[in-house]
Amino acid sequence: MIAPGSLLAAHDLRKAYGPTPALDGASFSILPGEVVAIMGPSGSGKSTLLHCLAGIIRPDSGVITYRDRVLSDMSDAELSALRRTEFGFVFQFGQLVPELTCVENVALPLRLAGTRRKDAERVALEWMERLEVDGLASKRPGEVSGGQGQRVAIARSLVTSPRLIFADEPTGALDSLNGERVMELLTAMARSANTAVVLVTHETRVAAYSDREIVVRDGKSHNMERAV
Ligand code: ADP
Repeated sequence: MIAPGSLLAAHDLRKAYGPTPALDGASFSILPGEVVAIMGPSGSGKSTLLHCLAGIIRPDSGVITYRDRVLSDMSDAELSALRRTEFGFVFQFGQLVPELTCVENVALPLRLAGTRRKDAERVALEWMERLEVDGLASKRPGEVSGGQGQRVAIARSLVTSPRLIFADEPTGALDSLNGERVMELLTAMARSANTAVVLVTHETRVAAYSDREIVVRDGKSHNMERAV
């Protein structure tokens, strides 16, 4: 049922909002270091699947395992600890904290985990250099472009060296040139750190950066053979 060696795997997930099924028997798996795109039209259940996989919402039924631990057996506190230490997140709009500078935003996950400011900001700056946004360290999110903000958000998602990054339409608010740059950097950085990426997108061009695609339709998942 669940592929051996998976980092994260889900089987037969169901989730309904009132009478509407958002997930209707979706399955998923990802190997360590793999980049998997979840595709499908708007309203098909992609975000619901991502939020279930990340332990943000609980499915009505179905099993999700992360490194042999069953998510439904974990308490809310255990799930949030897992999200803080093992997962990174990138959203459509960077969701940076507007009051903090860019380097403080990138350092935030480390600060929340108890790392001292100086050490957290040193690691944050290293990631910002790799994403070519170290020049923006002292700027606030309102002073940088959409593409720059997403690169700052990617630096923030990587700063704790997570095993898995959830990226929900990370290029949805960017033009195609900036979108491609963001995808290049996200996948290159993740691959160099052996971090797996679950990428939700409705754009074929963005999904092309993945190793494998899963299409969601009407809450059901379908594995796609990649055209060559
Ligand atoms: P996608 O990400 O593919 O656009 P979603 O997972 O957001 O799809 O939504 C799947 C279905 O579930 C849609 O019919 C949507 O309207 C419904 N849905 C999603 N979230 C909620 C919610 N919080 N309350 C009610 N209905 C929801």
